[in-house]
Amino acid sequence: LEEVEGELDDPIADHEFSPVPRLTHRHADRVLLFPTYQCAVYCRFCFRKESLTAIGRGYTHEALEPALAYIADHPEIREVILTGGDPLSLPDKALAEIFARIEAIPHVRLLRIHTRVPVVLPSRITSGLVAALQGRLMVTVVTHFNHAREITGATEVACRTLRQAGFVLLNQSVLLKGVNDSVETLEELCRELMYRLGVKPYYLHHGDLARGMAHRRTTIAQGQALTEALRARLSGICNPVYVLDLPEGGGKVPIGPCHVEGRDGKNWRLRGLDGEVRGYREIVGE
Ligand SMILES: *Cc1c(COP(=O)(O)O)cnc(C)c1O
Ligand code: SF4
Repeated sequence: LEEVEGELDDPIADHEFSPVPRLTHRHADRVLLFPTYQCAVYCRFCFRKESLTAIGRGYTHEALEPALAYIADHPEIREVILTGGDPLSLPDKALAEIFARIEAIPHVRLLRIHTRVPVVLPSRITSGLVAALQGRLMVTVVTHFNHAREITGATEVACRTLRQAGFVLLNQSVLLKGVNDSVETLEELCRELMYRLGVKPYYLHHGDLARGMAHRRTTIAQGQALTEALRARLSGICNPVYVLDLPEGGGKVPIGPCHVEGRDGKNWRLRGLDGEVRGYREIVGE
C-alpha cells in the first residue's frame, strides 16, 4: 500500500508493445501471448499485477483469435511465450487447444511456458497436462522459484514429470530484499534448482518499479556484489544472469558485475574470480 513516486503500473511497457489484445511483441523473433490473466497464487512483487485485477479476462479461444492471426502473419516469430497470468492454471483441454493452434503455424518452432504452478501447485503437473503439450514444437518451461524453501518433495516430483516429458526446464527468480538477498540463500537456491530439480537458473531479476515494492528492492550495487560472489562459488551452469527489464520497453539487459577493469589498446586488465586483476594481451591473426 505504500507507493513511492516513480513506481509504475506497467514497469516494462507490455501495453505499449501490444499490437493486438493479449499479445506483446517487442523482440522480432518472439512474442508474449496471454491466454489468461489468472494465477494459482498472486505475488505482491508482480510487475503485471495491474493487469491481473481486471475481470472478464479468463481464457476463451475467441479472445485469442486476433493474437493467433497476428502470429500467423509474422513469419519472423519463432518463439511463442505463454505467460499471463499463469498458463498452467488452465485446464488440459484449453492447453491442448492452444498448443494445436500454435503448432499449426509453420514458422513457430518453440513454445515457452512461464509459470509458478510447479512451485505453488505442483499437483497440477499431471500426465494429462504433459500430454496436452506434446507435438512438433520444442517446449521450454520456465519456473519461478525465489528461495530454496520453496523446493519440496512435491516440486521435485512435478519437475521430474516435466523433464521426463522432454521439456527444457529453466528458472527465473526475483531478487527480494529480506527474502533472498544473501549469497548463502542464492547459492542454496541455484544449487538445489540445478542438482535436485534439474532446472537451470536462467535469470535473476533486479526488482523493477512495480508499485508498492520499495521495501523489497535492493540496490543494483548489492545485486552485483551478490552475483559476483555467486559466480565464484557455483559452477557455470548453476549461475543465473542478473538482469534488469528496462522501462519503456528497453528489454532485459545484463547488469551483473563487470570484470573489465581497464584497457589500453590491445592490453586489457581483467578482475578474476579470486579478485586479482590480471593482464590479457589480445593477439588476433590478420
Ligand atoms: C522477457 C520478455 C521476452 C523473453 O525474453 P528472453 O530474454 O528471451 O527470455 C520476450 N518478450 C518480452 C516482451 C519480454 O518481456
Ligand atoms: S504467478 Fe507470475 S504472473 Fe501471477 S502474480 Fe505471481 S509473478 Fe505475477
